[in-house]
Amino acid sequence: MEINPILETRKEELAFDDLDYYVIKKGLCTGCGTCAGICSHIEFEDNLPSVNKIYDPYCSSCIQFCPQFYTPFSKIEKTVFGTTRVDRNLGYYDHIVSARSTSDSILNVCQDGGVVSTISTYLLEAGIVDGIVMSGISKEDPLKPVPIVATMEKHVIDAAGSRYCVCPVVMGLREAFEKDIRKIAIVGTACQVQGIRKVELFSEDHYPFDIKAVIGVFCYENFLYDDLFKNFIEGELGIELKDVKAVKIRHNAFELHRTHEINSIPLKTVYKHVNGACTVCRDFTAELADISVGAIGSATGWNTVIVRSKRGKSLFEEVIDNNLLLLSDKVDIDNLTRMARYKKAHVEEISTEAAKFLRELGAGELEVQVYGLLLSLNAPRLETINEILHISSDEIEQALETLIERGWATRVTDPYTVSHIYLPEKPEIIINNGMKKLNNKLKQLKRSVLSELTSLYMRRISEIDVLKEKA
Ligand SMILES: Cc1cc2nc3c(=O)[nH]c(=O)nc-3n(C[C@H](O)[C@H](O)[C@H](O)COP(=O)(O)OP(=O)(O)OC[C@H]3O[C@@H](n4cnc5c(N)ncnc54)[C@H](O)[C@@H]3O)c2cc1C
Ligand code: SF4
Ligand code: SF4
Repeated sequence: MEINPILETRKEELAFDDLDYYVIKKGLCTGCGTCAGICSHIEFEDNLPSVNKIYDPYCSSCIQFCPQFYTPFSKIEKTVFGTTRVDRNLGYYDHIVSARSTSDSILNVCQDGGVVSTISTYLLEAGIVDGIVMSGISKEDPLKPVPIVATMEKHVIDAAGSRYCVCPVVMGLREAFEKDIRKIAIVGTACQVQGIRKVELFSEDHYPFDIKAVIGVFCYENFLYDDLFKNFIEGELGIELKDVKAVKIRHNAFELHRTHEINSIPLKTVYKHVNGACTVCRDFTAELADISVGAIGSATGWNTVIVRSKRGKSLFEEVIDNNLLLLSDKVDIDNLTRMARYKKAHVEEISTEAAKFLRELGAGELEVQVYGLLLSLNAPRLETINEILHISSDEIEQALETLIERGWATRVTDPYTVSHIYLPEKPEIIINNGMKKLNNKLKQLKRSVLSELTSLYMRRISEIDVLKEKA
């Protein structure tokens, strides 16, 4: 369905209360800042929008443009790209390359290859835009992202690097409006890109911006600043945030780079601080951007760049023609696709401890993987499992058969599609059954070993008695 039915039938009656009810209270707000970007009555408190008392109860802009209320993907794709997606996992694109900035001043401060900052400075220097709405850094709270409008190279350089926490970037539209900046670009994660696209395409000239470029950054999940940085990292772990120069996510760990040391925190210990809305977000590569930029798929210090729209393609070519970027075709599109697919399916990896236990119960490597996938997806079809694991379907079918024989999964037929779906057995039942089997084995072992040991003992006793008699 393209248009949210509530919006279609009740547009005139909707107001901030409805946004509050349908999005904010339901824990679906991504904190993208679109509602606050188009309405000066909305402010952000604790990462969530709230409205002041004098708002217009007949204005429905906030809910209309909220990407979490509805985002008509295929409609936007047709308008922006002239057609719908070419790839289920990555969306529409023209081509994908690896790239890296040629500017030392950018490479010294950027997150990966500096492509985002390079394109941003070019947009300003070439006069294509007068300002770029992006995430900057708070002057008061170290590492805290805040929306800014960059109007010169220095602002872009100061804003370089990733802050892995929610930032209402699109709220920067307000500053642009107040400063009379109309020709703009935006840099943001998928949810922010969706918000700005709705403003760009559906605001019917109500908002006076001429949006020249939408640059997306890949995003798998995002965290809450107060929860993760203030309370956990500074409060519980005692790491002073003002000493942290950069934050990187590498090797399944959250790395805090300080002047003389790197603190590495396992990702699994910070997952509880992920923003709730991110757990249902399905867009990894900012599919509606003109150009999307990330790290996965490229060598360290390089970016993976997905060039999507015509306008994105000609901007990227201009930046290359000005010798601002180095290019490489060494990009692992399979790995990129795998990550995007994981996010769409919300596949969670089974923990090493759980996998070890399942192996102890006799499961093979692929069975552990497939069972973990069933738990994570809760009733996938064979095709979905195939798509995610990317190995031969014979092997997967064999693993599924073994899981069914073990009683770890059941196969049912979906009455609507008539295709098979696979349901995982509850882990507690598997553990209980596994423990029973282990106990039975232990009992059997006890019985056979015990009788063997007893007879050995008895033989030994009688041998000793014979020896005693002889003596
Ligand atoms: C929350 C988050 C999660 C990410 N997750 C992944 C991932 O899982 N895999 C992956 O390959 N890449 C991920 N990225 C993208 C990656 O961190 C880099 O932003 C990207 O590779 C561009 O690198 P660069 O060197 O060109 O960036 P730079 O040139 O350093 O520019 C970085 C840009 O990101 C903007 N930015 C910083 N923090 C935020 C924020 N919180 N919200 C919005 N914009 C911000 C800055 O304003 C700046 O313009 C993530 C980025 C963010 C912000
Ligand atoms: S527009 Fe963005 S910030 Fe506002 S309610 Fe929707 S998701 Fe939250
Ligand atoms: S995971 Fe999705 S919702 Fe969360 S910040 Fe990233 S793009 Fe936005």
